[in-house]
Amino acid sequence: MDLIDPTGPHDHEQVVFCQDRTTGLRAIIAIHSTVLGSSLGGTRFYPFPSEEAALTDVLRLSRAMTYKSSAAGIDFGGGKAVVIGDPRRDKTETLLRSYARFVHSLGGRYITTEDVGTSEADMNVIRDETTFVTGVSVDRGGSGDPSAATAWGVFNGMRALAQRLWAQETLSGRHIAVQGVGKVGSYLVEHLVKDGCLVTVADVMPESVERLRSEHGVASVAPEEIHSVQCDVFSPCALGGTLNAESIPALRCEAVAGCANNQLATPADADRLAERGIVYAPDFIVNAGGVINISYEVGRPYDSDEAFARVARIGETLERVIERAKDEGITTEAAAERMAEERLEQAHQRAR
Ligand code: NAD
Repeated sequence: MDLIDPTGPHDHEQVVFCQDRTTGLRAIIAIHSTVLGSSLGGTRFYPFPSEEAALTDVLRLSRAMTYKSSAAGIDFGGGKAVVIGDPRRDKTETLLRSYARFVHSLGGRYITTEDVGTSEADMNVIRDETTFVTGVSVDRGGSGDPSAATAWGVFNGMRALAQRLWAQETLSGRHIAVQGVGKVGSYLVEHLVKDGCLVTVADVMPESVERLRSEHGVASVAPEEIHSVQCDVFSPCALGGTLNAESIPALRCEAVAGCANNQLATPADADRLAERGIVYAPDFIVNAGGVINISYEVGRPYDSDEAFARVARIGETLERVIERAKDEGITTEAAAERMAEERLEQAHQRAR
């Protein structure tokens, strides 16, 4: 693997391998880009089968964070960290503190937050060793769990779609099928119901579905059916890769917009959606609410009203993406990537 290659997919500025024999810590911090500002991204605690698998993941995820922040118009770069281990067994306070000291040693080039396998409580532990952490609890001056902000961003993206596709200000009367009603998906459902939508949900955890059925009167289908429900917007809010060669032909919606990361299984799936005339809201555009929100914790007292107002502008960003795709005859995914790359290129030019 070429790790230092300005023209390849591994054009990262810095990759740091962290090891502490006392606590058993094995981690990798990847800083993809700081051209727009400090790199910002979560710490994933996961039992990777090999060091190579961990490295592959952290390189890919940190690069994606650069694109997400750039397209969102915030002055942060892309970074990510992985801790190799099973969070249920290996995540101890001493290990987290040791990891936090590595983050601190980077002097703010990398700012961390929660991700798969880490929580707000873990960020509080990390905060005891370094200020270069976000997503700490509200009582410690932080913004806490980012899921509500992420859902608010997806919802505003959907409202922009409603304006574009059906010339309506709200989503009232529209049918939305939500795949996965975990932290983000359930907040999203609340907004949709309040906006007057008909909502159908699915989840592999029956209790999550039941709660939404009883509290909000939503409909539900089996997890393997949700993508083929006849609806206006299909919203992937579970795992990545659910838009693929098998699922796309079965979609019966006008648009796709959800919070899951890496929804397209392959780049060709963006073309598959466009060929079917389905408007795809690129995931890294509409799920940027979490990162926008935590950016309001860095270097200033966190103000949720201010942060959420900024998150709502994801709708305007999505409108620009769709417009550009139409003007240039490209997919919305390609248009979003171009927008992110242009902002990065301008920052590179200024730095020269
Ligand atoms: P979560 O784990 O709370 O929710 C995911 C839900 O999907 C769970 O309820 C799970 O049971 C369900 N699920 C898993 N497989 C499924 C399947 N095959 N069919 C239906 N449901 C299934 O996670 P979350 O924090 O809500 O995040 C959801 C997605 O959004 C993830 O891809 C995450 O990476 C992405 N994301 C989250 C945030 C955030 O702020 N939490 C920000 C950006 C992106």
